[in-house]
Order: sequence, then C-alpha cells, then structure tokens
Amino acid sequence: MNLSFWGAARQVTGSMFLLTLDEDYKVLIDCGLDFEKERQDYENPDFKKENGFVFPFEVTEIRLVILTHAHVDHSGNIPNLIKEGYEGQILATQPTIELAGLLLSDSARINKIKLNAIHGKGKKINPKTLNKLTADLYLDSHVKESMERFVPIGFEKRFKVNENLYVTFYTTGHLLGAASILVEARENGKWIKIGFSGDLGRFKYPLLKDPQPFPQVDYLVCESTYGNRTHETTDSPEKVLSEIVQSTLVDIPGRLIIPSFSVGRTQSLLYTLNKLEFSHKFPRIRVFTDSPMALKSSQIYEKYRSHLNKEAQDFYKENDNLFNFENLTYVPDLEGSKAISNYYEPCVIISSSGMIHGGRIENHILKNLENPYCTIFMIGFSAEGTVGNKLMIGADKVVLKGKQLEVKARIEKTDVFSGHADLKDLIHFVEQQKDGPMKNLFLVHGEENVMEDFKKTLTWNGYQNVTIPGWGQTFELV
Ligand SMILES: [Zn+2]
Repeated sequence: MNLSFWGAARQVTGSMFLLTLDEDYKVLIDCGLDFEKERQDYENPDFKKENGFVFPFEVTEIRLVILTHAHVDHSGNIPNLIKEGYEGQILATQPTIELAGLLLSDSARINKIKLNAIHGKGKKINPKTLNKLTADLYLDSHVKESMERFVPIGFEKRFKVNENLYVTFYTTGHLLGAASILVEARENGKWIKIGFSGDLGRFKYPLLKDPQPFPQVDYLVCESTYGNRTHETTDSPEKVLSEIVQSTLVDIPGRLIIPSFSVGRTQSLLYTLNKLEFSHKFPRIRVFTDSPMALKSSQIYEKYRSHLNKEAQDFYKENDNLFNFENLTYVPDLEGSKAISNYYEPCVIISSSGMIHGGRIENHILKNLENPYCTIFMIGFSAEGTVGNKLMIGADKVVLKGKQLEVKARIEKTDVFSGHADLKDLIHFVEQQKDGPMKNLFLVHGEENVMEDFKKTLTWNGYQNVTIPGWGQTFELV
C-alpha cells in the first residue's frame, strides 16, 4: 500500500493525495485547484500535460474519490477528473455536495469567460476539442456530470466501500459539511488506518460545530495553514463587529466595506450581524450583501442547519431564519451593485472576493479607497500579490483594474472570522495521536517555512516521525 502527494505539498493549495491499495485499487482524496504554481516542469516522466491532460497520473485507474470539503482548493479539479475519463463515485457529506455544486458551477462560469476571451464570444465550444492550453478549463457540462457521481455519506457512519476498505467522516468545523476522513484499508490481512485532516476549523466558531475528536491512526496527513501562529483576537465576533460598526458608521458616519468570500465567511458575518440586530445592538443601518453566490450559500446553510451548532439551531427556532435581518439586502445583479455606489447614507457592503482579487468587490474598492470616510475591514487571509494583501500590510498606493489609487480609506483587520485552526488548535488535533502507534505524520497544506516551524514544534512536543512530503513523492504504508 502506498500514498502519493500530488498537491498541497510544500504549499497551501491543490490538495490531492493518491492512496494505492492492494491490487492497484486507487483512491484519490481531494482533487483541488492549485493556485500557487503553474508547474511546467513536472518531474514525473509520465506527466501528460503537453498532450492536453491535467493530471500527472492515470485517471482511469482511480476507483474512488473522497472529498473532505467544498472549497475549490480541495474540490475544484473534480470536473477535470471526469473530463479525463474517471468513471467512479465521489464520497462526500450532503452539505459538501451542495456547496461544491455551487462553487464548481461558478468555476465553470469563470472558465467560460476565459474561453470566450480566447475563442471569441458566442462561438459554440465543443468540450471534446478544447486545445491543450485550455485543457483545465472545464465547462458546465462537466460540472453536471460530476454532480451525478456524488454519493452522500453521513458523519460518523462507518461506510463500507468493500471488504477491504471502510471510510468514516468526522466534523472539522471549518465549513458547513467539512470533514476529517478516516480510511481503514486491509492489505495481506492487516488493517491500516490513515487519517486525512482536511482543513481543520476552530472551536466556538459562529454557526459551526466544534471539531470532533479523531481516532488513533497509523498514518496522519495533517494540514498546517497556521502551523506557526496563534489567532490574536480574543474578543467575540459580536464585540469585534459592534465596535467597528460603532466607530466607522455611528461615531463618524461613513461606509464600511467588508471583502469576504461568499461561501462560509459571509454566512458567519451575516449571522453575527443578525444576532446583534436581534439583541438591539446594531444601529438602523443598511447592510448590502453584494454577491450572487452569497444568497444561495446562505440558503444551503439554512437547509442543513441540523449540521450547525446548537446556538445556531436555537436561534433559527426562535427567529425562523439565520441571516435575514430587516436591514439586509442581497444584491442580485450588476445593476443593483452599481446602484449601491449612489447610496449616500452610512452602510455596510459585504462583497467578494475576500482577497480583492476579482469579483464585484473590486468596483467598491475602486470607488471608495480614496475616500477617508470609508473603512475597508479585512477579515481573512489574502495571498501575496493581491490587493487585499497589500492593504493588510499597509501599502499607501495600490493598482486596481489598471488604475493607481491612493489608500485614503481607513484599513482595519481582524482574524476573529478566520475559519482555520491556529497553531494551538492544530496541536490539539495532533495530540489525539500517540507517537509510536502513529508511524508517520505527513504535513501538507501550508507554506514551506510555516511547515518547517510546525514540524519543529511537533518534534519538540515529542513527535519523532514528522515528514514534509514533496510534490509527487510516494511513501510505502505498512
Ligand atoms: Zn478549506
């Protein structure tokens, strides 16, 4: 039995791990988009990208795909898998399936825009004849077919794939439906347990359940996004939001712009605002959620509220909703989006993307960044090179949509809405494992220097067998 690392190896995105069981039964865990590297020089001689293929392994040999959660750096390559001939099923929790449907359709929509730019608008595109440069740009038809392959799996239900393979999903609290996965596989009569952390969430996070305990395994593949730092904010999300609203909209009437991802982060924000309004701590100020996906995502959160924490479920019982407070407006179209610019009362605008890299948020930043009465409130991670990142590190000028802008707006930030486990939470997760019975701990999904720091911390905590796998590296599991 062996395990190969084809993504999130010494980097954050592109999660994709290939487990080869006895008799060449192959299982792929996650199939995400890689945002960090355009790897032209794959070391694997069999790599077929020059022939128009996306994956560095034979897709038709895979018998099963398991998905930890819906974020596209874990799910976003599934339609390409289908495109390249994968014929099996995809196991995921029911909320993950619905959120993945939403996110993959959006990726297909963006791909279509890119293809139109290459081939000319209005031309019918035959999915079979896409050239090799656009091999990874799947279409809606591939997404549709992908969605038909999903099989919903409940949390903590040991699912029998066959006599030699069982899969169990455990709540991680990172996103609705997100799971850590236990794979139990038998080889030569011996059972081997392999754990995949997926993305780990936090305790007491708005809406989501706390991460569940995870059982002892022989091998663990663990994310390390925040492997060398601890979240700073200790105040509650309500306190953080009500203070920023007070100082930016009430004390000095202005405009509060919050760049936020539509799926997950926006729901945490809206729920917190809803709670503030319910307890009369939110002034009569309008909130615009300017993102077409946010409404659909909110509906999925309400539909699967039984997967949310008790507080959220109780709130729903009392109010019959989680997100719809009186002053909230979901902006459905671009016309509406433009109209917000002409709303001159103090207001909150929530729009994506969270990193100010594409999406409707760009127009709001363009119009408001040079306005000293405006505050941009950064609530999540922004990758290097994005406008979001530049604002967070204190740039006084940025270029957006070809325009140079002076940063006159106030820039504020918080990590209270971060959906990722910090160092303390990661150690808590790993400490459920006894070193010894756990033969190897593989660190993935982190920046290389962060992983090195995390490894040092773990070694210091008594974990002797910690490995940071490289891209394409394979390990024998015994
Ligand atoms: Zn994630």
